[in-house]
Amino acid sequence: MISPAMQAFIDEQKARIQALSAKWRTALWLNGWTITDSFYTDTLSKDSGASEIAECVAQTFVDAPYLEATIRWHVPSIADMDDERLEYIWLHEQMHILLKEMRLDGLMIEGSGLPHEERVATLLAHAFQTVAKEGGK
Ligand SMILES: [Zn+2]
Repeated sequence: MISPAMQAFIDEQKARIQALSAKWRTALWLNGWTITDSFYTDTLSKDSGASEIAECVAQTFVDAPYLEATIRWHVPSIADMDDERLEYIWLHEQMHILLKEMRLDGLMIEGSGLPHEERVATLLAHAFQTVAKEGGK
């Protein structure tokens, strides 16, 4: 049973994620996808085989052939972030959705040995955020 205070805490962070989805999903051409955001308050397992940023802030699972993805958000971690950092993390996870099909292994869960995908996701997320903020100048 979640206390009302904890539920309010979770709802507040959910609203931040939902605001980012409303801001960005159309621009990223992700409206055709079914993307589920799920929220956890316990510590995410590091051995789940999923992508991690900043100690399991978020994990993204992509089922590209069916245009479905699930992003697991660690609520206490995102609560610690200011809006700009959270937007970057949010964008980074969406980049994984777009990049997943580039993988040769066909795995449905992001593996750990993909530094190239991490780097491309990182650069693209920063690029999108910069263009949105500065108009590409
Ligand atoms: Zn990543």
